[in-house]
Amino acid sequence: MVKVIVVGSGAGGGTVARELSRANFEVTIIERGPFIKTKDALKCYETFNSDVEIMGTVCLGGTTMVTMGNAVRTCVDEFKNLGIFLDDEFREIDEELEVQPLPLSLQGNGTRMIVESAQKLGFKPVPMPKIIDPRLCKPCGECAFGCSRDAKWTTAQYLDEAVTAGAQIMDNTPVTEIISEEGRVIGVKCGEKEYYADLVILCAGAISTPRILNRSGIKAGENLFVDTFITIGGKLEGISFSQEVLMNALIEVEDIILSPHYSTILLNKIEGAKKEDILGIMVKIKDEPSGRVTEDSVIKYNTQKDVELLSRGSAIAGAILTEVGVDTSTLVSTHPRGAHPGGTAAIGKVVDNNLETRISNLYVADASVFPVVPGAPPVLTIIALAKRLSKHIITKYKS
Ligand SMILES: Cc1cc2nc3c(=O)[nH]c(=O)nc-3n(C[C@H](O)[C@H](O)[C@H](O)COP(=O)(O)OP(=O)(O)OC[C@H]3O[C@@H](n4cnc5c(N)ncnc54)[C@H](O)[C@@H]3O)c2cc1C
Repeated sequence: MVKVIVVGSGAGGGTVARELSRANFEVTIIERGPFIKTKDALKCYETFNSDVEIMGTVCLGGTTMVTMGNAVRTCVDEFKNLGIFLDDEFREIDEELEVQPLPLSLQGNGTRMIVESAQKLGFKPVPMPKIIDPRLCKPCGECAFGCSRDAKWTTAQYLDEAVTAGAQIMDNTPVTEIISEEGRVIGVKCGEKEYYADLVILCAGAISTPRILNRSGIKAGENLFVDTFITIGGKLEGISFSQEVLMNALIEVEDIILSPHYSTILLNKIEGAKKEDILGIMVKIKDEPSGRVTEDSVIKYNTQKDVELLSRGSAIAGAILTEVGVDTSTLVSTHPRGAHPGGTAAIGKVVDNNLETRISNLYVADASVFPVVPGAPPVLTIIALAKRLSKHIITKYKS
């Protein structure tokens, strides 16, 4: 049996682990964070403070545990231009994850008012496709804390299937380095301990993966993007928006997306406001990949172009909120944050089109490999890339 170590269990790792264990590879998943119940994901946030604050979660299931359930296909043409065709994988995902917009019965008043006002101003909002089971979802506005009803898809579901197919999981175990011999990977180091395998697939996310690569002699960590976002919001009495399914509609304007969103940061900034009285819109941009990950720092600032896009998006968000009837004297913005780190071990720079590094049998299958900035939710595309890599490995090692 071919032995595989998968490092990390988020969008990329959970997918590769499931696909390869179901194809009878001997899979061990080594995960830095703990096993948790989905509802406890809020406790596992890890943030990096730079000019743009970067967020993710460290636990089994990785950052999929706290997504908003948004499910769009990103960078499809850019990957096609590189000879990477993901159509089959996207079709598989649509079926397995039941990607669809939620029914109107799960759309709240705040979202509806934002959609109607955006239309009046000439924008074309569409429902956000979601990986949320409408039969289980009871809107609470807390997708990003971890779903207490397990209505939202996370890779925990793929990990369960991987374990059923024979995969082993080691949690609370950070991988520190790759072990290689004569240009070929033979295992990983977790501090003093060593684990051996025929293949290693790094899926530790766009901050950790380049660090592991750098410690193993492969230069990585440049071109960090995060799809920088801010949330603009203000007072609209009695709207109770914070308990709706958030980001339940999408407006695209060139390199900017806007989506109904609430953040507790707004609450702290609007004097005398109550949570129930705030209506907000997220402005997310295709930022420039100007960031960098080093062993002990993450550097990400806003470039002039990023600031222009954020300003333009804020103006649109402000106009929509004003049209809805939000008290304009209360409008505030959160600081810039990023929830989609990627690009730090990009295709064409650190890995080839089959996601293999220059150390043979050492692959990367997480957001690090994106060669371009998505500017939109990347999970579906990460899963599609991980599925494509799994097919490549199955063909290569089973023939
Ligand atoms: C609040 C929030 C909401 C989001 N909502 C959406 C959304 O609605 N739709 C969408 O498409 N995207 C969303 N995203 C982004 C999405 O979750 C990430 O882009 C995606 O999960 C990244 O996948 P990944 O495999 O690269 O990394 P991750 O999913 O972060 O997985 C990396 C894994 O590696 C583990 N790890 C790290 N270091 C090590 C190590 N040294 N050894 C072993 N394991 C390690 C981590 O614990 C983690 O389990 C959201 C992100 C956030 C923060």
